[in-house]
Amino acid sequence: MQNNPHTTLITSDAPVAANSHGGRAKCLQRLVRLEMPVPRTVALSFDAVQRIAKGQVPDIAAILDQFDQTALLCVRPSSEDPDWGGPGAILNIGMNDARYVDLSDSMGGEAAAALYLRFVQSYAVHVARLDADVFDDIDADGREGLQQSLRAYDDETDEAFPQDRGEQLIAVLRSMARAWDGTSARLLRQAKGAPVDAGLGLVIQEMIPGVGQGECGSGVLQLIDPTTGMPQLTGRYLSQSQGRDALGAGVAALYLEKDPRGKSLEEVAPTAFADLKTHAALMRVKLKEEMQVEFVIENGHVHILDGVRVQRSARAAMRIAVRLAEDGIITPQEAVMRVDPHSLNELLHRQVHPEARRDVLTTGIAASPGAATGKLVFTAAEAQASAARGEPCILVRRETAPEDVRGMHAAVAVLTEKGGMTSHAAVIGRGLGLPCIVGALDMRFQTRKKLLTASDGRVFKTGDILTIDGTSGQVLAGQPAMLEAALDDCFQTLMGWADSERDIAIRANADTPADAQTARNFKAEGIGLCRTEHMFFDPGRLIVMREMIFAQTSSGRAAVLERLLPMQREDFVQLFRIMEGQPVCIRLFDPPLHEFLPTTRSGQRELAEALDLPVSDVERRVAAMTEYNPMLGLRGVRLGVTVPEIYDMQARAIFEATLETSKNGAPIVPEVMIPLVSAKREVELVKARIDSVAASVASEQGVEFEYRLGVMVETPRACLRADEIAPQTSFLSFGTNDLTQMTYGLSRDDAGRFMSAYVRQGVFVEDPFHVLDADGVGELLKLGSERGRQAQPDVTLSVCGEHGGNPESIAICRDLGFDYVSCSPFRVPVARLAAAQLAISSRLGG
Ligand code: PEP
Ligand code: MG
Repeated sequence: MQNNPHTTLITSDAPVAANSHGGRAKCLQRLVRLEMPVPRTVALSFDAVQRIAKGQVPDIAAILDQFDQTALLCVRPSSEDPDWGGPGAILNIGMNDARYVDLSDSMGGEAAAALYLRFVQSYAVHVARLDADVFDDIDADGREGLQQSLRAYDDETDEAFPQDRGEQLIAVLRSMARAWDGTSARLLRQAKGAPVDAGLGLVIQEMIPGVGQGECGSGVLQLIDPTTGMPQLTGRYLSQSQGRDALGAGVAALYLEKDPRGKSLEEVAPTAFADLKTHAALMRVKLKEEMQVEFVIENGHVHILDGVRVQRSARAAMRIAVRLAEDGIITPQEAVMRVDPHSLNELLHRQVHPEARRDVLTTGIAASPGAATGKLVFTAAEAQASAARGEPCILVRRETAPEDVRGMHAAVAVLTEKGGMTSHAAVIGRGLGLPCIVGALDMRFQTRKKLLTASDGRVFKTGDILTIDGTSGQVLAGQPAMLEAALDDCFQTLMGWADSERDIAIRANADTPADAQTARNFKAEGIGLCRTEHMFFDPGRLIVMREMIFAQTSSGRAAVLERLLPMQREDFVQLFRIMEGQPVCIRLFDPPLHEFLPTTRSGQRELAEALDLPVSDVERRVAAMTEYNPMLGLRGVRLGVTVPEIYDMQARAIFEATLETSKNGAPIVPEVMIPLVSAKREVELVKARIDSVAASVASEQGVEFEYRLGVMVETPRACLRADEIAPQTSFLSFGTNDLTQMTYGLSRDDAGRFMSAYVRQGVFVEDPFHVLDADGVGELLKLGSERGRQAQPDVTLSVCGEHGGNPESIAICRDLGFDYVSCSPFRVPVARLAAAQLAISSRLGG
């Protein structure tokens, strides 16, 4: 059998490989090579298991020859990647009436009966495929329970329980081989990334009876805490011997750590305990991984049944990788590759504790990660009042508008009925690092009545406590336990390693000094998008802004702009100071106008007071300015062309702030970006005015300065005409939110309604607002960047849509040779790590 690669005893030099026999078989061989006390094990290859599934009977006699005649056996799955799972292990094969009698002598009748009974029931359910409820009526344990179970088996199958070890083994192998081919098993593993043709290997291992006078028992042990990743011995141990005496029960738990209820393993079996620690430490070094050691202790001697990669939380995964690299076991690059960038979200924000009970009311779109618990409030004003009282609150709105921004600042989380990944609440929530769920369509939002009704009928009102889990999109009742964010040394170390590998820059989208500070803390290399309209969502400014929009004459508008200029200048001074000479890209005004129009009666009344007009006038004006399709209306450069004074004011504020900040520090080179361009002429018109403002400011202050003018490429036409747009600019930044919206003809704010149905039915592989659509939008990016570069070879290329923080989308940008991506500040670390992984794997030829 040694020579048969498909059915082989696992020895140091047996032909066993992970891609032919599975990860478990390969791991066991490594343990054998490390001379660990592994019980005899036979590995069946993927081919062998496939043949068994098709009905071919393996040479069972040859397999059984490898084991002691009386040995009990177990069979475990061995898929190529252990995470793909497989059918559950079947233990104690070979147990029958005769062995039961023998074992009753050595281990006692009750323990032997318990062993046999467990085998009969597991064989019945998993191998003979009987319903588990066949055994429902059996409430006796021990001998009586065993007899009843054997009878139940007989009644159901019309056959006596098989007594022959070979017959039992064949049936077990066949059932496990076939279970792997079942539809649900297939779907489950494919969801975990397994290929369609993933194979299953099986390992047949001799069981250690664990009987004798000395300490006997079984357990698992690992060197770390799987939640935190901190070095700490953890595990479980079930004693067959000490527990009986110590606690008067058949079996009792003995704890690895000293515990008031029992003795520690170290006390009852010091040598075995020391051996286990040595084995675990050796596995860590040689297998380059934190492993859980599965062991049996028999008469004080350790047997190692298996080594399994420790299941771990995201934060533990990061700490494990960093510690392995710091200990010289793996390289820093390997550590960088081992941490899933998506999982960083779990470290950057508070999370619901993985073990907390979740009372899920609904699942919406997970628009901004992290979790927070608070009292429900239904208006921005209530949110502010709640924050003033020091009470954390969750702002519930059907959708958010600029008026809600102050409430969002005051809230700990936001929940909206409408919206998608790039709707107002989502974008602001991510910018603030605020947990946010949008598109919670299953719930009934009655914001006037201040009621929120779950689909199961539960009604929540102002002050009731909910938890928003923006990482999973789940709205939870009550207050589950939380896990705090973990931006510790380990995180900084890993990020440092990532940065030294990366070959694409990462900037942040930041609108406020607080955003900019977060961006700096996360080591963004500049601001890639400052949305200036967000600067006016502050209540004091919103009203001025509305006055400006409502001004009917150029002189009226100029007067309001005069008031806005110093505010804007101060905004930019603050941003420039915080960014300390790093590039800051300021996008000129791009308001879908409706975001600035007061929609509520109270908002309209407030505006009427400010403008000294009757409310009815305001209402009329709002109605007149309302657009059928504001996202395609008077936005972006269209406003710049038709009401040029706004851009003039902004350009002046940027340039004056540039000179002011440059006085005391390194010279600032601001970047000014024109949004929503679709034609070359738009750029020409705006550029001429901005150049002229720059010349005026320089001459007024007697100081020359530089600035870079760029275009935001976010309409399909701008991509197509990039060759004629690029020569007028220093940079092209692709706004993939609008570009996705316009390429698909899909509303950013409304697509949430049907997105999940579309993804479920495979119309879209993913929400294209979340992961850049490589085929369509990606094609436009390719075309636009190629045409732009051809016409203007040193044009800087970047993406500043929300996709900039998404690892799959960053890969597309990097492939296209972009200079940087820009994303919400809290996604900067995710982007840094993802970009590093792309650089490392492309160097490795992956
Ligand atoms: C975009 O459209 O991709 C973008 C970044 O701009 P906004 O989301 O502000 O429209
Ligand atoms: Mg846009």
